[in-house]
Amino acid sequence: MPKIRIEFDKQTCIGNKACLAMDFKRWKDVGEKVELIGGKEVQRDFFILEGDFSEDEVETIVEGAKVCPVNAIGVKNLDTKKELYKREITTANIKEIRAKYDDRKEFILDPAGYFLIKTNPKSKEIEVGFCREPNVVAIKVIGKNPLEIYQTIINKEKLEIRKDHYAYLGRELQKAYIALQQGLEYVQDDELNFKEKVNIK
Ligand code: SF4
Repeated sequence: MPKIRIEFDKQTCIGNKACLAMDFKRWKDVGEKVELIGGKEVQRDFFILEGDFSEDEVETIVEGAKVCPVNAIGVKNLDTKKELYKREITTANIKEIRAKYDDRKEFILDPAGYFLIKTNPKSKEIEVGFCREPNVVAIKVIGKNPLEIYQTIINKEKLEIRKDHYAYLGRELQKAYIALQQGLEYVQDDELNFKEKVNIK
């Protein structure tokens, strides 16, 4: 059985509980954040747990660390000294690229179809239609937030569109969501106008 060290930076933790969903044996819900079960606080809000774990347990521990969106969890094999999951982000050999894109010149329409997106300020919902041919809505998805809508469209309805079109959908959904939260007008493809609030009757 490999000897493993789990590190948990509680200060960094944002409490979305993804680690807990992946590995309930190691993590405990303690309200806003999680607790590393059996972990010892070696400095303020920094916990360590060392022990012998089966290969299967190690795999689950590493998966739990991987799903943490803020790198609050590190895992090290103390026998081999190998980092199984590093908390620190390495940038030594990074390839840095300046983003460049001119929508007027480079935009290409997705042959699979196009989205029609609007908000309903009364119900605080976003409505997304997808047209495979001009002005014929084939699918309509209504939801409260971008996550549930794009998960439904992409992973449940398995809509086949270009990769940049998925990104476009995410961008527009987030804009629509912000508009609803802030009481702004949402116009698909336009920038949000933060200076003008809409009247909801
Ligand atoms: S996944 Fe990371 S941020 Fe989320 S609760 Fe676990 S440690 Fe905290």
